[in-house]
Amino acid sequence: MNGKESGPVLLLAAGTHGDEYPSMFALQRLAKELNPKQLKGTLIILHLANLDGFHERLLALNPKDNKNLNREFPGSKQGTHTEQIAELLTREFIRKADFFIDMHSGSANQKLLDHVYSPYIGEPELDAFTFEFAKAIGMKHIIMYGDRPNDPDNSISFPNTAMTRGKPGLTTEIGHLGLRDEESINYAHTVAKNALYFLNMLSGSPIQTQPATIYRQVNYPKSNFTGFFTPLVTIGDKVSATTPVGEITNYFGDLVQTITAGANGTVLMINETPPIKQGESPVAIGLVKKAN
Ligand SMILES: [Zn+2]
Repeated sequence: MNGKESGPVLLLAAGTHGDEYPSMFALQRLAKELNPKQLKGTLIILHLANLDGFHERLLALNPKDNKNLNREFPGSKQGTHTEQIAELLTREFIRKADFFIDMHSGSANQKLLDHVYSPYIGEPELDAFTFEFAKAIGMKHIIMYGDRPNDPDNSISFPNTAMTRGKPGLTTEIGHLGLRDEESINYAHTVAKNALYFLNMLSGSPIQTQPATIYRQVNYPKSNFTGFFTPLVTIGDKVSATTPVGEITNYFGDLVQTITAGANGTVLMINETPPIKQGESPVAIGLVKKAN
């Protein structure tokens, strides 16, 4: 959508993972209600990046090659189906955008506290502006994220493909459990509009709820066994290092491990379905201060 006046190019994408629905509906709604006469700059809406994953109801993967689109960037024209999608998104979408938000949800097996990842790649000006962008979209929980490489030829994720090309790229996580609830759709819609306000593409001010909690690190306690997982806490719960967060039982129902949080923090994500494999983490604990 080209605005009447010139301005930045904002890319908003949903469905990088096909089982994460609320932002798909939010972007459909946004596209229908916006009037180019009131818009400055250009808004690019990518309604559903992983169409095959959506139709096959897969958690995060593309059924054509069983790859996770958000791990295959910048992609390759000669690669598998997912790598080719990544290459197209890099060339035709990221290259043309100045700012990017990749809008996700918890997977259909997860409960998740709505949050935004504010990445940093060691470029002070870009990192600082990206953090301002993350704060402006009005989410209550911000995770600082510095785990991705700063090499544009090995950018791995969709938002990091933007970051490694000098463009702020956020990831939002809104909604969970394969739901399409109105509350999550509304929230994603507000977040998208806040981005337009912050970039002065629409006149108005971002709707700020309250100062966000900033997490500097995320702890992922792992299961040592394969079997069943049962959560003992839920999203938003405050835990200490020794708080039991879940139990692992074997196929016969015998307790084999009690998983503890491992750090003082807040439960950001937890699996709600039973299957668990050895080495998998069924829970994410957000830490306000970095543990050494
Ligand atoms: Zn996702």
